[in-house]
Amino acid sequence: MQYPVNEIFETIQGEGHFTGVPAVFLRLQGCPVGCAWCDTRHTWEVDSKDEVTQDAVIGAGDGEPRWAGWDLDTLVAHLTGPQYRARHLVITGGEPCLYDLRPLTERMHAAGWRCQIETSGCFEVLTHPDTWVTVSPKIGMKGGLEVQRSALERADEIKHPVAMQKHIDELDALLEGVDLSGKTVALQPISQQHRANELCVRVCIERNWRLSIQTHKYLNID
Ligand code: SF4
Repeated sequence: MQYPVNEIFETIQGEGHFTGVPAVFLRLQGCPVGCAWCDTRHTWEVDSKDEVTQDAVIGAGDGEPRWAGWDLDTLVAHLTGPQYRARHLVITGGEPCLYDLRPLTERMHAAGWRCQIETSGCFEVLTHPDTWVTVSPKIGMKGGLEVQRSALERADEIKHPVAMQKHIDELDALLEGVDLSGKTVALQPISQQHRANELCVRVCIERNWRLSIQTHKYLNID
């Protein structure tokens, strides 16, 4: 089993339920979802011309496409090595659910780590049952993929970027019939726009949902 890794770096989780928690981020390469406003377009293709060494993906990247294949044993040995203090692994992308994450999350949970994945919800979620699943549903994107009902049901957290009322309406339609008890639902204002901030605050108060702020953007860190 090989995972195509774009970057591995340690930072603070900047958004959602675990905001402020020190974390190691594992970004996997590959995503066919096609969001128009994607800020990680360099992760979309797993192109052989962009393959680099494993050492080259350790540390935050510069936004250029790159990836290295890591087998499970080498990846777990690296992540659990002495260079990282965090015990919270965030598996993101790209779209991490292109890959079977059960072997990796099983090993990391067994090593005493908490695992979290961040996914568009367009693919089946294959993880250890204790892995925290954050679905940021991508609705009507260019890739033509649909958000999977099974991903919404598996989610521990549904985190939705919002710029206007239309995005709340889309979310309502998507969540119709999904049992939200025990799930965190968070609205995340897009691009620090004042109008989006006001809308998200109002709806979060009305529904007792959470507000997710992209604190890493305010802090200007990766
Ligand atoms: S799902 Fe994520 S990585 Fe994929 S296109 Fe959308 S924002 Fe970008």
